Amino acid sequence: MTRLHFASALLPSGWANDVQVVIAAGAIAAVTAGVAPAAGDERHAIALPGLASLHSHAFQRGMAGLAELRGDSTDTFWTWRETMYRFALAMTPDDVASVATLLYVEMLEQGFTRVGEFHYLHHDRDGSPYADPAEMAARIAEAVEASGIALTLLPSFYAHGSFGGAAPHEGQRRFICSVDQFAALMTASRKVIAHLPGANIGIAPHSLRAVTPDELAAIVPLAEGGPVHIHAAEQVKEVEDCLAWSGQRPVQWLLEHAPLDRRWCLIHATHMTNEEVTAFARTGAVAGLCPITEASLGDGIFSAREFVDAGGIFGVGTDSNVLIGAADELRQLEYGQRLKHRQRNVLSGGAGRSTGRALFDGALGGGARALAQTAGGLVQGARADIVTLDTAHPSLAGRAHDAVIDGWIFAAGGAAIDCVWAGGRKVVEGGRHGLRQAARERFNASMRRLVA
Ligand SMILES: [Zn+2]
Repeated sequence: MTRLHFASALLPSGWANDVQVVIAAGAIAAVTAGVAPAAGDERHAIALPGLASLHSHAFQRGMAGLAELRGDSTDTFWTWRETMYRFALAMTPDDVASVATLLYVEMLEQGFTRVGEFHYLHHDRDGSPYADPAEMAARIAEAVEASGIALTLLPSFYAHGSFGGAAPHEGQRRFICSVDQFAALMTASRKVIAHLPGANIGIAPHSLRAVTPDELAAIVPLAEGGPVHIHAAEQVKEVEDCLAWSGQRPVQWLLEHAPLDRRWCLIHATHMTNEEVTAFARTGAVAGLCPITEASLGDGIFSAREFVDAGGIFGVGTDSNVLIGAADELRQLEYGQRLKHRQRNVLSGGAGRSTGRALFDGALGGGARALAQTAGGLVQGARADIVTLDTAHPSLAGRAHDAVIDGWIFAAGGAAIDCVWAGGRKVVEGGRHGLRQAARERFNASMRRLVA
């Protein structure tokens, strides 16, 4: 049993002072506010619940910063994707384990305690399935176990190169499954995560480009009640191609043909009409926003103000993993809105309210919903995922409560994170994960071979 005492902690009911949290068997056994620290309590200043990165493609961490050289034509998402395919085609299962391990170590150091791994690198380099269809998922699980992060595994179904069931192209060969292969992959993936504490599983139909309506209907039941994540309306070209195929825009098509509800998460949903924004918000499905990746890829800016005003639920993900940071994603989300609307504090939710707190609460609730976590936050019964902030950081000094969150998100960033407990295990201390050095060395060895 571990007993922690915080001078202040953000609880589901709001900020509380003098909070004791008891951890047993990886979960929060008790939360008591207004008590003096007892002998044997480990004392810290400020505690927040850990956030989820609800959308990650772990292997892409390996190509972070490698697609920043301008090509011959206009550089777009589609030229970035060619670099991504080349990189994906070269990686061995060991490379995936080393890249994912460093990524999850970095996520924990930055305040993410759960990852939604939208996993689509399934097959061997020539495109043939591994003897164990979940070989690559097992490497993700290995990284999860080593780092201590919680996993929501979202095996991705990917069958086509474009709308209307177009044949996939050669660069996609490691991603492609039939419905029967995918069913076998789901069975094998359930076994892979069975021993991981706090792990759960859903499915990820990749996008309407990669999945036909019949296939979508066939695979959704394979989630067995778990979350369903799909990329939607990330790029203008995707919207145009979807219109040419169906006469409808991607989100419009999903609203009409898919059973969108709280179990669903639409990743990006960047390009929507006002009607789509309102209808999507009403479904209770989560908008899985990846503001840094969306900026990196030149996708566009999500209609966050309108979506939140309509009651929509959002969470954040690190997606391409070009840069890892909970504060960075939330800051970019707000700054995109400021640039778009030429205003400040767009997502604060009203006069006198803290923008950082609104962003944090949104991402906490939306991340939990998208990854099917019932008990979120610092509450009895929840997984003990706790982040403390360093009040000696110059951007946090002298501040309390919401002003601390604003200081973290808008000024200090990840440098303000002190300790992180994941499933009750203290994995980060003084801002450093215990596995940082070993994970870097293993990652760097993979990179020297892959990048050369
Ligand atoms: Zn993605």
